[in-house]
Amino acid sequence: MAEVRFPKKLIFLVSALVIVALLSVGLYLAKTSKQAEPATIPISDMLNRAEQKTIKEATVEQNLVTVVDNEGKRYRAFKEEGQPIGDTLRKNGVKVTVVQKGVAPWQAPLVFAVPVALLALVLLLARYGKSGLQLPLGPDRRKVGSDALPGVTFADVAGVDEAKYELTEVVEFLKYPDKFRALGARIPKGVLLVGPPGTGKTLISKAVAGEAAVPFLHISASEFVEVYVGVGASRVRSLFQRAKKNAPAIVFVDEIDAVGRHRSAGHMGGNDERDQTLNQLLVEMDGFDTNSSVVVIAATNRPDTLDQALLRPGRFDRRVMLDSPDMEGRRQILEVHAKNKPLEAGVELAALARQTAGLSGADLANVLNEAAILAVRADKKAIGQPELEEAMLRVMAGPEKRSRVISEQEKKVIAYHEAGHAVMMRTLKHADPVRMVSVVSRSRALGLTVQRPEEDRYLLSKEQLEARMVVALGGRAAEEIIFSTVTTGAAQDIEQATAIARRMVAEFGMSPLGLMAMKAGVGGDPSEKLSDALAGRVDEAVKVLVEECYELAKVELTTNMDKLVKLAEHLQTHETAYAADLDELFGTFPALPN
Ligand code: ADP
Ligand code: MG
Ligand code: ZN
Repeated sequence: MAEVRFPKKLIFLVSALVIVALLSVGLYLAKTSKQAEPATIPISDMLNRAEQKTIKEATVEQNLVTVVDNEGKRYRAFKEEGQPIGDTLRKNGVKVTVVQKGVAPWQAPLVFAVPVALLALVLLLARYGKSGLQLPLGPDRRKVGSDALPGVTFADVAGVDEAKYELTEVVEFLKYPDKFRALGARIPKGVLLVGPPGTGKTLISKAVAGEAAVPFLHISASEFVEVYVGVGASRVRSLFQRAKKNAPAIVFVDEIDAVGRHRSAGHMGGNDERDQTLNQLLVEMDGFDTNSSVVVIAATNRPDTLDQALLRPGRFDRRVMLDSPDMEGRRQILEVHAKNKPLEAGVELAALARQTAGLSGADLANVLNEAAILAVRADKKAIGQPELEEAMLRVMAGPEKRSRVISEQEKKVIAYHEAGHAVMMRTLKHADPVRMVSVVSRSRALGLTVQRPEEDRYLLSKEQLEARMVVALGGRAAEEIIFSTVTTGAAQDIEQATAIARRMVAEFGMSPLGLMAMKAGVGGDPSEKLSDALAGRVDEAVKVLVEECYELAKVELTTNMDKLVKLAEHLQTHETAYAADLDELFGTFPALPN
């Protein structure tokens, strides 16, 4: 939608400006160029001729007097302001016409006012057209027609069966409101969809509208938090007006956390615009009764930051979770998106689902799309396994950057760094095995080591978390052992390890500090803040944990130095190693089942 808005508006603006320009030119011409200008004579001369009765008719236009004499010749003369020439002429038998044409002194401002007014109108339309206010002439891209019946149904949404089940009720209500009313059932006005980005919140909301065949009116809260005070509120108002007019309807508020944050949180003195928008939203939701068949669906991935006022009964009192899909969910999502994409024989979507733990629905859609593009580039008739493999890596780490110039020395460092990760994945009992390791640089990484979780994990043990930290720090450890110096290449690894350690200490009670929840209050509520003394101890415990894991990585790598060197050398010549290559390089090492 955002892509079409700009050109449309641009065309509109340009054409409006052209009209303004033409009008101004027209006015200018009308004022100045009287076609075939007659000769100008002094006014006294003209009066003389009148007295001689040689003049037939006269046109008086402000100070300009144009006359036609008995022979049909035209002259003109300028009289003085206020000089009553009409009577003198009439006395001499001249037919006098007084016209109000042209630009009188009092009219002069109009020459400027008309284009200015038009320009102002254009700007107004552009502004309110965008904000969704109904103006009869406005290019209102949110007109119900355009958003109505999005044509998406539950069949397009895969792997989120519980959410679908919860929302079926809303669909039923929108379809058969009378059935519910007859039994006095109160239907939720507001449904809050909670889930990480790309899990299909927008999609499933559209599907609800599609299933119920009602208009889908949407607004993204993040769009107007930065603009002028009052705009957000007025958009909310007009959105609800339209919803009520077109009821039954769905109102979808995307990224509601952008306006719905705790009003007390952070920001001294609050944010006027956000507060006004939020208040307007609350007013609107309270304002329509349960009979109006308008259901508001809002989406967020930060439910913990929402203002409590939003979550009260009669507002967003129903919550539907959309999680990252599990393996079966991923298979179903892949199936939906593979529908119109021919796959080579032997490509198993189930296998692909197994390899894509952690990817969201949007990521999976992206994988298939990237694979299709790669297949087209390779001039293939169907998508094969190699395209899918590469597409997965692209989605995870960006496209390959073969043009990036990397010196031999750098390449060597990267090879050892990645080999360090990979060897850790293979040696540690609690780490997931390595699927592939590569030193081909991509837009978001210099090298890449991909793990293969055997299954989705919902619970992680302390040992598994520590193994993850050791794996993350294995790259830096290898650099230090081999080169006796370190590079900037480990920044993200260190960040990742620290984040795990912090959660172990502060949330999971996996440190000597014990079981107390030590996460600083999310909302910035001062009463939830840690005491300085405790915060210091948390930081210290995190540091110790990370350092211990780093030491462990160094010990492990020193023990397995031969493997590290072997793999790093393989990577320097072959760039990439898959699980099978590693088996060949290392034999059965380590023969450790997970
Ligand atoms: P969100 O709003 O949660 O960030 P979207 O609804 O915008 O996610 O999802 C983006 C795209 O990802 C969708 O248009 C769709 O192509 C794909 N997608 C996400 N989740 C699913 C799903 N459960 N089933 C099918 N496609 C999905
Ligand atoms: Mg969305
Ligand atoms: Zn690394």
